[in-house]
Amino acid sequence: MKTKLESLPLFLKEISRDYKYMLPLIFALAIFQGLSPLVNIILPKYILDELLYMRRVNRLLIYIGGIALGNFVFQLATSICRNHLNVNMYILELDAVKKLAIKATNISLENSEKKSNLDLLERGKEGTYNIITFVETISNMAASLITLVMVTGILIKNDWRLVFLILLCNMFTIPCFNRIRFLDIDNAKRGIPENRAFRYLCSVATDFRFAKDLRLYKGDKFFIKKAEEIMDKILIINHEYFTKHGFWNGLTQSIVQIQITITFIILGLSLLATRITAGTFTMLYAASNQLGRSFNSLIQGYTDLITLSVYLDPYYEFLNIEEIEKEGEVPNNFLIKPASIAFEDVTFRYPTAKEDILKNINFKVYPGETLAIVGKNGAGKTTIVKLLCRLYRPQKGRIFINGIDILSLPIEEYKKQLSIVFQDFKLLPIKLNENILGKEERFITEKETEMIWSKLEETGVKSWVEGQPKGIKSYLTKILDDNGLLPSGGQEQKIAITRALARDGSIVILDEPTAALDPKSEEEIFENMLKLTEEKTSIFISHRLSSTRIADRIIVLDKGEIAEVGTHEELMEQNGLYANMYNTQAKQYVD
Ligand code: ADP
Repeated sequence: MKTKLESLPLFLKEISRDYKYMLPLIFALAIFQGLSPLVNIILPKYILDELLYMRRVNRLLIYIGGIALGNFVFQLATSICRNHLNVNMYILELDAVKKLAIKATNISLENSEKKSNLDLLERGKEGTYNIITFVETISNMAASLITLVMVTGILIKNDWRLVFLILLCNMFTIPCFNRIRFLDIDNAKRGIPENRAFRYLCSVATDFRFAKDLRLYKGDKFFIKKAEEIMDKILIINHEYFTKHGFWNGLTQSIVQIQITITFIILGLSLLATRITAGTFTMLYAASNQLGRSFNSLIQGYTDLITLSVYLDPYYEFLNIEEIEKEGEVPNNFLIKPASIAFEDVTFRYPTAKEDILKNINFKVYPGETLAIVGKNGAGKTTIVKLLCRLYRPQKGRIFINGIDILSLPIEEYKKQLSIVFQDFKLLPIKLNENILGKEERFITEKETEMIWSKLEETGVKSWVEGQPKGIKSYLTKILDDNGLLPSGGQEQKIAITRALARDGSIVILDEPTAALDPKSEEEIFENMLKLTEEKTSIFISHRLSSTRIADRIIVLDKGEIAEVGTHEELMEQNGLYANMYNTQAKQYVD
């Protein structure tokens, strides 16, 4: 894992582009914060000298007033800048979380499954929590730099030996800071796998979708025990870290104390020899302490920036994962309905898999035809659908719609032509009508509302939805609304099918969407779908062959290869794999 502070230029570019007040605020805050220590370093010199030597009351009052006013003005200006910066930083943090979420939803499934990208995402999430500290560190460093320049000027003008002394001490403290930096980075990196596993386990335990399984299969105990074991590991890593950290920090502080003592001696001797006044003594003493502090704070800031980059570098790296997607218009012949589909010599392997899941697949679906794909579990049926939906790209071969290679089409336009229901579809915890149309309720027209009702009727859930107090305006689940609906598995599937039908794409794909339905309802849905999709080209996948036999043609997939193709009757006549599967299922129903 490299740490090269790559995020700093990216971060500065981003904030100067998207947050026009952020850099001026950081700059203003740095000036006020950086100059404010000077009031308490310079003015006390004059007060003390007046008190001890000249004793002019009016001058004394001016200096005291100067300290009070200077501190007040700097504090006020610092507070105003800090408050504004805080608001900006808060927005920046929320924006960072949002950007990560948007990228995560836009990234291809292929990229999302790579372990390296999952790690980037996980560390990138940490990056979003650390973004405020990143800004604060930059602003503190800028303030320290300003103070450092000013107090160095004061010291060089009065006694250059003090600057030399501080530089010398820093030659010893810098290696200590480096050590601490190394420990910080090492700790941040070492804890990543454990922290990820711990958070995952706790998130599963608090995710009520797992509630039934966890309780019934004693999974709750198992999960908590596993989480505790990982917590022990995290504690060991942290204990080691804090022990070493404490040692190097202590050493640094000791060197600083030595520096203070020597400063005291040099200045004390100068005072005794009357080379300086008591006022100059306090000023130079305060200035050299301040120089040491500013120097340390700059180095510490740099160390912190590097440590924070362990998280922020992956944040930017994840946001910059490149997706090669075409944009623009689709050719007119792509939109011809009903569409034809063709798979030519398609071979595919999942990013994390060791062998090909699909091998040289060739088939055509003619315009308006209904094709059923059947086969045992794991044969590769869903994978065909995923390739057709461009969730992955085949390693070899091409897929055509109306004779056009689907990879050459702009993805958003392409997706509009697909009406899909996946086996593991997810309805979102938003309103029913928003779920179905994929847009906010305030943008849904009356015509669209009518269309939703008619599609709900076609899929057979209209009367259930009508019976709900808020009808299609009801929320699904209780996540965002206490009165949200909790549809049964079958009702959920019917809603998911409604959502697909409402899209009105030229291709309909049903990938075992009826698994939670009883055989009778499944058959009804398939028959309904046949009627609803007469004008469309459809692909059905179901493990119940009694349903798929109504398709125009059936493809039998076996271990990633096409084993048989034909109508139900033809395949039954062949007496091969299909007939065997069909007879086994039929026998189960008869039994
Ligand atoms: P089917 O739909 O016929 O039951 P799938 O197409 O879902 O089969 O899966 C085919 C094979 O690909 C299975 O062995 C499955 O374990 C594997 N597979 C599915 N998804 C992934 C994935 N994301 N990464 C790796 N292997 C996968």
